[in-house]
Amino acid sequence: MYPQVELFIDGRWRPSLSGETIAVLNPATEERIGSVACAGREDLASAVEAAVHGFDVWRKTSPMDRSRVMRGAAELLRQRIETIARLMTLEQGKPLEEAKTELLASADILDWCAEETRRTYGRIIPARSAGVYNLVVKEPVGPVAAFTPWNFPVSQAARKLAAALAAGCSVVIKPPEETPASPAELIRAFADAGLPDGVINLVYGVPSGISEYLIAHPSIRKVSFTGSTSVGKTLAALAGEHMKRITMELGGHAPAIVFADADVKAAAAILAQGKYRNAGQVCIAPTRFLVHDAVFDEFVGEFIGRTQALKLGDGLDAGVTIGPLANSRRLAALNAMLDDAFECGAEIAVGGRRGRNKGHFFEPTVLMNVPKIARVMNEEPFGPISTISRFRDFADAMTEANRLPYGLASYAYTRSVQNATAVAQAIESGMVSINHYGLGLPELPFGGVKDSGYGSEGGLEAVDAYLVSKFVSQGPL
Ligand code: NAD
Repeated sequence: MYPQVELFIDGRWRPSLSGETIAVLNPATEERIGSVACAGREDLASAVEAAVHGFDVWRKTSPMDRSRVMRGAAELLRQRIETIARLMTLEQGKPLEEAKTELLASADILDWCAEETRRTYGRIIPARSAGVYNLVVKEPVGPVAAFTPWNFPVSQAARKLAAALAAGCSVVIKPPEETPASPAELIRAFADAGLPDGVINLVYGVPSGISEYLIAHPSIRKVSFTGSTSVGKTLAALAGEHMKRITMELGGHAPAIVFADADVKAAAAILAQGKYRNAGQVCIAPTRFLVHDAVFDEFVGEFIGRTQALKLGDGLDAGVTIGPLANSRRLAALNAMLDDAFECGAEIAVGGRRGRNKGHFFEPTVLMNVPKIARVMNEEPFGPISTISRFRDFADAMTEANRLPYGLASYAYTRSVQNATAVAQAIESGMVSINHYGLGLPELPFGGVKDSGYGSEGGLEAVDAYLVSKFVSQGPL
């Protein structure tokens, strides 16, 4: 039932011109389940040519008509949820219910941007002389190259496509080769909803070859990437060389601060859910838990209880709450980080290592007393490892929270307005969520500072990232 995933160029599904494909594996069984077309340079050239033509059509399509197509695609996603969620679980590993939640969230993103397309307002600046009109007009930046990762195969693509389309841009998108079928279904939903040919062009292949080609291409005007900080820096440098606008949504290492006056039970429940969703392969997942001395034991007990209650297994099986890691690279990376943490003197409170012989399973794991030099305290684990440390005062907690070059998400739990206000001001991150898990909805800004990237993929800022301001000053006629 898993398809042979094809390219979608200029409104047509087709294999690559060379006929080359890449195998797709199920991370729960390590078995080959299908393949995806591998684009070469000629395929990429056709995709860009189609995007240029698609841009010409789409930019002239009225916002009302754009909005109708986008809302149509959202509706089709909802109607096709059972089939697409199954494909996502097969290729990515997350539990079926999580795949469905992701699809509903993606439909929401499409709806939000469909509404925003009708509000891409410019402005009028009062003139110094009679008869002069100073106008700021918002125009779509042009054809976009978008690169999306495997952790949320549909919603990460939905964020970029919906915002670009709302602005009037066309897109050449490269979703991940490891999870190609579910994002291809998102593109099918757009096509079936009446999107003109060439507005979205879907390619897969060798990531570095595709990004080097697309970013350097003179017809591509904007680059948007979600993935690791190291790849993001490479692509940002390349984009700089070619003077392309960019949005970079990169890695994080989120601190979660539990103050002495927190509702500890609620904090543990919210944080455990945020931590283990998608087996921890979430850029905004809480990772460094900083807990005040006075509530340390209580928090640890609650959090460990919730960690032990998880059921690890194949995402298609009923009752499973945490699936395998999405690929063998993550498993190797987590095992190496765990070895390193032991060598540095960390203690394991629960979990550790592989869960089974077959499949990329890794037990949800809690580490305590991890020295700051350990890799897991410095590199994004991107997996189900939590580290819990103590703090004594506010300054301690802030020093640790802001220690790393990352600055994506952060979390705090407190009943005091003073702590809540102070933490929101002092923390160096693009997003702060206090006393609940309040990040990631389509209407909210989503992005980081420092090495976590720049630009935003949510809220008003999402569509704005694909618009340029043209200034027109018109004198007396
Ligand atoms: P990676 O750095 O090799 O790749 C990350 C993503 O970028 C993948 O989707 C990959 O296909 C793509 N990619 C890699 N090289 C590219 C290139 N030259 N041009 C264009 N795209 C390229 O790492 P990985 O093993 O796939 O993922 C692990 C790391 O990636 C994690 O540690 C995490 O930090 C990061 N990541 C972040 C997010 C996020 O939501 N910010 C999502 C997935 C992965």
